[in-house]
Amino acid sequence: MQNFPGVGVSPGRVIGVIRQMPKPISEPPAGEQLAPGTTAEEATAALKAASQAVHDELKARAAHATGDGKAVLEATALMAKDTMLIKGASKLIARGVSGERAIWESGSSVSEMLHNLGGYMAERATDVLDVRARIVAELRGVPAPGIPSSSTPFILVAEDLAPADTATLDPNKVLALVTSGGGPQSHTAIIARSLGLPAVVAAVGVDELPDGTEVYVDGAAGSITAQPDGSLRAAAEAWAATASLLAEFSGTGATADGHLVPLLANVGGGKDAEAAAKLGAEGVGLFRTEFCFLERDTEPSVEEQAAAYKSVFDAFPGKKVVLRTLDAGADKPLPFLTDSTEPNPALGVRGYRTDFTTPGVLDRQLEAIALAEKQSEADVWVMAPMISTAEEAAHFASMCAGAGIRNPGVMVEVPSAALTAESILREVNFASLGTNDLTQYAMAADRQLGPLANLNTPWQPAVLRLVGLTVEGSRAEGSGKPVGVCGEAAADPALAVVLTGLGVNTLSMTARSIAAVAAVLKTVTLSEAQQLAKLALSAPSATEARAWVREKLPVLEELGL
Ligand code: PEP
Ligand code: MG
Repeated sequence: MQNFPGVGVSPGRVIGVIRQMPKPISEPPAGEQLAPGTTAEEATAALKAASQAVHDELKARAAHATGDGKAVLEATALMAKDTMLIKGASKLIARGVSGERAIWESGSSVSEMLHNLGGYMAERATDVLDVRARIVAELRGVPAPGIPSSSTPFILVAEDLAPADTATLDPNKVLALVTSGGGPQSHTAIIARSLGLPAVVAAVGVDELPDGTEVYVDGAAGSITAQPDGSLRAAAEAWAATASLLAEFSGTGATADGHLVPLLANVGGGKDAEAAAKLGAEGVGLFRTEFCFLERDTEPSVEEQAAAYKSVFDAFPGKKVVLRTLDAGADKPLPFLTDSTEPNPALGVRGYRTDFTTPGVLDRQLEAIALAEKQSEADVWVMAPMISTAEEAAHFASMCAGAGIRNPGVMVEVPSAALTAESILREVNFASLGTNDLTQYAMAADRQLGPLANLNTPWQPAVLRLVGLTVEGSRAEGSGKPVGVCGEAAADPALAVVLTGLGVNTLSMTARSIAAVAAVLKTVTLSEAQQLAKLALSAPSATEARAWVREKLPVLEELGL
């Protein structure tokens, strides 16, 4: 058996054969000519056959997909036979340009034209680039880019996954996600947890395994084993039996002695919110509003925004919904708000800071939120991302007041905010710790980089101390303003216990993790959780903090978490 250690980011133990995510298609060299002996007619016919094959393949996949995935596949299939795209390429071929180069250039022109048209058309610009890469792959006889299609379930191996990959990822076909890059806070980790798939990131060498290799994935331990033996098969079978138990949630998060810790959901839109409500989430602790507009080139209107926000509020009538204003920038660029040429986007004009450079957008978003709130029954709280100072918190609170929003708050994800939580909380009504960014900024380690995965874990004692300081700041402020956690840390059941012991009031996570967190939380009393928090804070390293706490929580092993 060959073992590949990585970082476990979503629990579960499964066995399956792997499929590698194909490498991106390289650009055909500029000026590439038709191969000697190939006529323009032959090259054009080959191009048309390739475009037809791409169309047919996407259409067949659309027939088996549902929802957003189906719509994306259907739109892309149509684009593969787009007249302008094919005519543009045929003209170039007639002038002696190779088929691959011709479709590449024609794709660039069509994409640019759509982009300039703006609105809905601009959103199709990326579909053209996807189709162009697929046609080139077909001409080269190599696998198409994107998630491989397969009639049987498989373990997907990739370097890392982008948010756009989720649309075509079918959770019924994919058994687990494994990446050679990515960190615990990367998109792969977030996607895996939201789909309830076991996942391991930063497993160096897995991208060298041939398609079809059978592997065992342990998403809690963070390991991948090729050619698993009988004991690993038994472990996978045992997990399959517990997994169904972990799908149940009673509806109230609490410790063994009844200390309530509301378990809330992180959502990106109305569909997520409906799914979260079905899974028993007690409310929404983080509505990432930027997820509603990731593909937009232009600012959505107040009415359009209000409709998107209302769809989330409506899933939780009478319940708490914490909406975060647009967190554009870094790993979530929004073309109408962020500057893609910044040298260091994670430290750039991101989140609340976009109000410095593009004033007006935040005011209009607050107007839309207030409008949606009036039309719904949810208990709406509104927070700003990337707040660094008490002045910023005060300014945000005054903007909220101006828009008629009653409950302003901030995210604590910059270390300066954790260190000055007392003065920040004097200005607003609540704080929510974004441990993904808090970890990245405390450790000075890009959350998207695989090689930094061991630095980039919220188990780092430095990060836990910043969480503790935020809670202390809220207590010192005196009025008992609530502090929640909405980063991925809350979805780790052992860490959820530690966070509770540190005094955090609510935990917000991908809805699929709620049942597992609830199951572990109810096995400890508040004072035991406080002891475990002390233990974690006293550890000299993240590895020891995690190992020491896990050792005291045998329920984790029993449940395979
Ligand atoms: C965080 O930083 O922890 C967080 C919840 O926000 P995001 O992951 O969207 O940056
Ligand atoms: Mg963040």
